[in-house]
Amino acid sequence: MTFQLSTPITYLPGVGPQRAQVLEKELGITTFRDLLYYFPYKHIDRSRLYYIHELTADMPFVQVRGEILSYEEEGVGRKRRLIAHFTDGQGILDLVWFQAGTFKWIKKSYPSGKQFIVFGRPTVFNGRLNIAHPDIDPADTLQLGKMGLQPYYNTTERMKKAGLNSRSMERFTSTLMQKLEDYTLPECLPESILHQLALVSRDRSLRDLHYPATADALRRATYRQKFEELFFIQLGIQRYARQRQQQVSGHVFSVVGTLFNLFYHNYLPFELTGAQKRVIREMRRDMGSGKQMNRLLQGDVGSGKTLVALLLCLIALDNGYQACLMAPTEILAEQHYATFREFLRDMPVRVELLTGAVKGKKRRTPILEGVRTGEVQILIGTHAVLEDTVAFARLGLVVIDEQHRFGVAQRARLWRKNTIPPHVLVMTATPIPRTLAMTLYGDLDVSVIDELPPGRKPIETLHFWTERPESLYRGIRTEIAKGRQAYVVYPLIKESEKMDMQDLENGYAELCHVFPDLRISKVHGRMKSAEKDAEMDRFVRGETQILVATTVIEVGVNVPNASVMVIQNAERFGLAQLHQLRGRVGRGAEQSYCILVTKYQLSQETKQRIQIMCETTDGFEIAEADLRFRGPGDLEGTQQSGMAFDLHVANLARDGQLVQLARDVANRILDEDPAQNRPENARMWAYLRQLNPVDIDWSNIS
Ligand code: ADP
Ligand code: MG
Repeated sequence: MTFQLSTPITYLPGVGPQRAQVLEKELGITTFRDLLYYFPYKHIDRSRLYYIHELTADMPFVQVRGEILSYEEEGVGRKRRLIAHFTDGQGILDLVWFQAGTFKWIKKSYPSGKQFIVFGRPTVFNGRLNIAHPDIDPADTLQLGKMGLQPYYNTTERMKKAGLNSRSMERFTSTLMQKLEDYTLPECLPESILHQLALVSRDRSLRDLHYPATADALRRATYRQKFEELFFIQLGIQRYARQRQQQVSGHVFSVVGTLFNLFYHNYLPFELTGAQKRVIREMRRDMGSGKQMNRLLQGDVGSGKTLVALLLCLIALDNGYQACLMAPTEILAEQHYATFREFLRDMPVRVELLTGAVKGKKRRTPILEGVRTGEVQILIGTHAVLEDTVAFARLGLVVIDEQHRFGVAQRARLWRKNTIPPHVLVMTATPIPRTLAMTLYGDLDVSVIDELPPGRKPIETLHFWTERPESLYRGIRTEIAKGRQAYVVYPLIKESEKMDMQDLENGYAELCHVFPDLRISKVHGRMKSAEKDAEMDRFVRGETQILVATTVIEVGVNVPNASVMVIQNAERFGLAQLHQLRGRVGRGAEQSYCILVTKYQLSQETKQRIQIMCETTDGFEIAEADLRFRGPGDLEGTQQSGMAFDLHVANLARDGQLVQLARDVANRILDEDPAQNRPENARMWAYLRQLNPVDIDWSNIS
């Protein structure tokens, strides 16, 4: 039988059905290939032995050889510990364990007088050198000369409970390496790239990532693997973008006509900012080109994207087409609808709203009918506008607000068979770091609004403590006395979490108690849509002074008179989310405040997050920091991007330059081999197909 990477992991000696189940559940490993791609997170040099007298507390990992002289137990209760006095004949070192349940087993396993190799991180406690929870092996079983750089694998709590630790993983991968001995892992990059960038082969790098002979071999293997991961993502995206360019034509919007001019010269309540004018020019050029527009509009909260969207819709209408604006939530869709209605109140334009909440034949049917005949010129809604029942007469433009939930695949759904696809504008207030944007939205052209409307004062951000609410209340009182309004937001990570609801209810009750003279609204995701709207409305109209809410207000809501944003349990929010929430204030001309409330006790990372928020209002700075803290995997939408996005080694936050290189090389390859049929690239195209099994066929999207 020939060796196959797709062999189920149960066939690996030492794994068996039970462990296979744990591996699958915890790490998603089901085949030899999965195991091969489960790379260690670090290596430690185990070729060298130290003497105890050489050790200092600032060394990372060390190993010493010697014997245990005696055991002793110290402390009581949770401080109980087992100490072994260990010597190499020249010095003394304490080995320490803290789990009382294991003491008996340890004493039995490591009897005094026998030679062991002890491995761990040295520290100094009470003036004595010690290693806590060391790795211990009998000296005669460990062949240090052969160990070299030892791999360390991440394992989960559940795995440890099932007896699978880093050492077990090491046994599995080394068994796999033995199986791979007579097998060469096929190359997937063309010779030209390997040569040009001096990359090691795929075979070499996959082995060396686990068992490198030297630190240099590890570095070269890592570099090769990083490049490969980023390269195939870029190749997929760039190929996709080119294909679309070639195969898909777009509606030609050649005129800026009556409606646009009527609005621009008579009803536009303010002058556009320079940045707004520029991005509109960029998009007009796209829409007049005969190609389909696919553009991402980035602009910080409050930069005036909605108005840009509205002007674009008017251009579509002027050219005889309908436009559709899609928002991720009902509240946002409703707010856009209200904004459009307000701006267009004296214009002969029919705008309708379609969300899941718009029910009942009486309301729904005429809207759908109007969309079908073309009488409804602008349709605003949630995902509901994508349903099959919604058939446009002549859809020319789709604007997607807050795109994180809309990856490539979702955007592709906007196509209908045998029709020219609409122009697509994706808008986001979440600044996306360059390397991430190149990866997630690399198929889109990008426009940026980098200027806020005039007269905005930067928001001041303050950090307050849960334990001392008086100063918070005083601040809210002062602002409301000036006629302003305040948001108080509670985290609601899961709508179902009882605890979170309790926080919100308690907070609401307390505010009612502290401010008996004020009117307070309350909005959360569990309320009925109509109820929610009514409460929001009261706040928007200024009938209530405080809005207590969960994150349903996160994006888009616009109440210029609100000048205070209080975020309770701010430690539970990510940076991007805090920035979004903060963007709800500072929309009028007066000074606004964002108050982050946390308890005293905070982790180091949380402190840093809060500090960044207090120091800067620059969305891009915050996004970069967010990427550093959390990594791209947590960012909403990475899964749905529709592209192969399986980064094992590469890191978008750290490997920015490599992303650029990968993109350049991918573009060069596509320039040289546009038909994708040059034999020297065959293995690369085949590998790409394997990564992206669902090719999007532009002639046949239904
Ligand atoms: P975004 O969607 O980018 O967060 P909005 O479109 O909601 O921002 O705009 C924020 C506020 O600024 C709105 O009240 C809007 O009417 C106002 N606005 C937009 N453009 C301008 C401008 N050029 N001058 C003054 N105010 C503007
Ligand atoms: Mg907006």
